[in-house]
Order: sequence, then structure tokens, then C-alpha cells
Amino acid sequence: MSDKTFDTLVVGGGIIGLSIAYECARHGMCTVLLERSELGRESAAAAGIVPAGHDTSTRPAYERLLGLGSELYPELSQRLCKETTIDNGYQRCGGLELARNASEAEELRWESEQWTAQGINWRRLTTEQVGKLEPSVTTDLEAAYELPETARLDPSRHLQALAAACRHHGAHLVANAGDCELVVDGQRVVGAQARDGKTFHAETTVVAAGSWTRTALAGLDVDIHVRPVRGQIALLAPEQHVVRRIVMWGRKYLVPKEDGGVIVGSTEDEAGFQKHCTVEGISGLLAGAMVMAPSLARARFASHWAGLRPASADGLPWLGPVPGYTGILVAAGHYRLGLQMAPATARVVFELVSAAPPCLPIDDFRLDRPSTAPQP
Ligand SMILES: Cc1cc2nc3c(=O)[nH]c(=O)nc-3n(C[C@H](O)[C@H](O)[C@H](O)COP(=O)(O)OP(=O)(O)OC[C@H]3O[C@@H](n4cnc5c(N)ncnc54)[C@H](O)[C@@H]3O)c2cc1C
Repeated sequence: MSDKTFDTLVVGGGIIGLSIAYECARHGMCTVLLERSELGRESAAAAGIVPAGHDTSTRPAYERLLGLGSELYPELSQRLCKETTIDNGYQRCGGLELARNASEAEELRWESEQWTAQGINWRRLTTEQVGKLEPSVTTDLEAAYELPETARLDPSRHLQALAAACRHHGAHLVANAGDCELVVDGQRVVGAQARDGKTFHAETTVVAAGSWTRTALAGLDVDIHVRPVRGQIALLAPEQHVVRRIVMWGRKYLVPKEDGGVIVGSTEDEAGFQKHCTVEGISGLLAGAMVMAPSLARARFASHWAGLRPASADGLPWLGPVPGYTGILVAAGHYRLGLQMAPATARVVFELVSAAPPCLPIDDFRLDRPSTAPQP
């Protein structure tokens, strides 16, 4: 039993939990984070795409959370590098969106209207322009768009930088703490207990346990449905740089790495908490990669992995207090875009912890919303 009472206790050391702990610690809050296993390991599965986005006050809250996340990354990346000397590799490399038939082209045309409404820069490209920008990308296209503000970073390095920056600001990070359980006194959450029985007390406990959030909230009279959606990814190592920009074709994509490697993502399949890659999953990705950039057929196959995306039924995250309880907040369910939303989520949580009005409306993310909308 620890006698100390922290200002903030974060349960879960993924991208969301570490970003929250960092935001609280850098603003002088006495912060502790408890991670069941290795810090950042789950979130490191991400491809590292930070889509273009802007926080436009006229847009719905979800788009604002995404947009603010994208806006915060350049300054955040610089600050983390200054504080820790770890460069997260953030770079506005730009992106291409491809359509290969009429219905895909119509989908992109609709999306381009959304980009305009969100203040995102884009331009439609001819196949000749695609060939000039990215000579390895197929020109067998119905339509193509360039989004110059699309960015990428190295998720592992970013997570390492966040952990180091948390420590730099005095946060206490506890890895391998096992499945931590909330400690409740009546209707007030007063902290959490690690597997070894050690209890950490805090004014505010934030549950950011990704796909495991439902279990982490056991003990409270609340039931949110987070389901894990597996994403499989492959890494190719071509002999020469194949693409400089992120290339998107529907839900398939290529992300260039600084060393010339190409990440090929990603499947969306539901297999509970299983995280192995399948023949069907990886072969589908590789087939898609060869369509987008045919010369990748000759690239060395370097590795593959899978991760779990925490998904809600309506596709929106949960962000805010647990109805009926004090001392507890939840930040979970960020699904396909947790990396993008993490800095904005952290800002909102810090504001809630400090009893300041949140910088964007969070009513859409409340835990007691009817969450029966069709799945994304
Ligand atoms: C293949 C793939 C590619 C992706 N690519 C991108 C991308 O390019 N851009 C993007 O924005 N997003 C991407 N995502 C989505 C992004 O990775 C997720 O949205 C994000 O990782 C969710 O972060 P999280 O911190 O909520 O959850 P997690 O990463 O799952 O972290 C939750 C943490 O909580 C810990 N935990 C759970 N229960 C407990 C407990 N009781 N006590 C203590 N600790 C606990 C877990 O061990 C884990 O470390 C991708 C996802 C996948 C799978």
C-alpha cells in the first residue's frame, strides 16, 4: 500500500495512456501510470500514419478530435525530441489516394468534399502527374488525389519518446503491473491495485486500457462494449526506395519508412484477442501492395505482425467520466486512428482532470450514449 496520493493515475500504457500521462506530468501533475505488460507494446503495431486534419469548430466533435490530433503533432514531436533526444520520425511526407474503378472514384470524390469542409488541402491528379510524383505507383487508375499534409511517424520511437518524456517530467511509470483493478470507495474511485497487491491512490484515475477497457472497468456499474479488431501488417524491404508518400487504396496502404522499407497495411478481421497473422490476411495485403506498386513484387519480405484496434459499436471513442462515479475518467475505443487522436485526447483528459472546460465538445463521446449505431 502506497501512502502517497497522486493527482492522476493512468491504467494502460498504450499510445492513449502514455500521451495522457505525459500531458498531465508536463503540466506539473503528480502522475503514475500502470501498464499490465510492456509499455507501448500494443500500440507499436500501428503503421504510423497521421492523416491530414484540422480542428474546424464547425465540424462534428469526432472530426475535431482527429483534426486537433494532426495539428498538435509537429510541435509535440519537436518538444519530445528536445526533452528526450528521441526523434519520432514525424514527417509530412504527403499522401496519395487511389481509385481503380468508378465506385472507388465516386467514394473519393465524396471524400474530397469532406476534406474541403475540414480545411484539408488536396488536389486531383492526372495519371501523368501520379507517374511524375511516384514513378513506382500504378497508373492503371480511375482517379487519384494528393494530400500534401498527410504525415507519418515511427510508432515505436514515438512511444519510447513519450515514456522517456513522462519520466523527464517526474511521472512514475510501472510496467509489468499485471491486470490492474480499480479501488472503489462507495461511488468514488480512489485508485488502482497492481497484480502484486500494491495500491496506488489518486485524485483522478483514467482508464485507457484499449481493447481491455471493459475488463479494466469491472467493479463499476458500467458496461461499455469495446471489441478488438485485428489488424495485420507486413514489412517489405525493397532494394531501392519505392514510394516517398503514403499511398492509400481503400483500406489498404503503403507507408514508406526512412530506411526505404515499406509497411503494407492492414487487415480488419475479428478473431477475439488473437494476434497471430494469417495466410489469408498477409497474402491479401501483399496482393494489394503489388497492385499499388507493381515493382514491390521483387521486394524482400522482411516481417509481419498484428495488433488489436479497440472498437466501439458506433466507431466513436469513449472520452469522459463514468456516470454515477467520481474520481474516474475513461479514454478508450480509438479504433483505427488512436495514434492520430492521442495528443488531442490527452489534452482533453488533462483539461477534465484540472476541471477546465474541454477545448472541444465531448458530449458525443460520453459513456452513457446509446451505442447501437451500425459498425464502421
Ligand atoms: C495494424 C494496425 C495499424 C494501425 N495504424 C494506425 C495508424 O497508422 N495511425 C493511427 O492513428 N492509428 C493506427 N492504428 C490504431 C491504433 O494503433 C490504436 O487506435 C491504438 O493503439 C489504441 O491505443 P490505446 O492506448 O487505446 O490501446 P492499446 O494500444 O491497446 O493500449 C492499451 C494498454 O492497456 C494495457 N492494459 C489493458 N488492461 C490493463 C489493465 N487492467 N491494467 C493495466 N494495463 C492494462 C494493455 O496492456 C495496453 O498496453 C493501427 C492499429 C493497428 C492494429
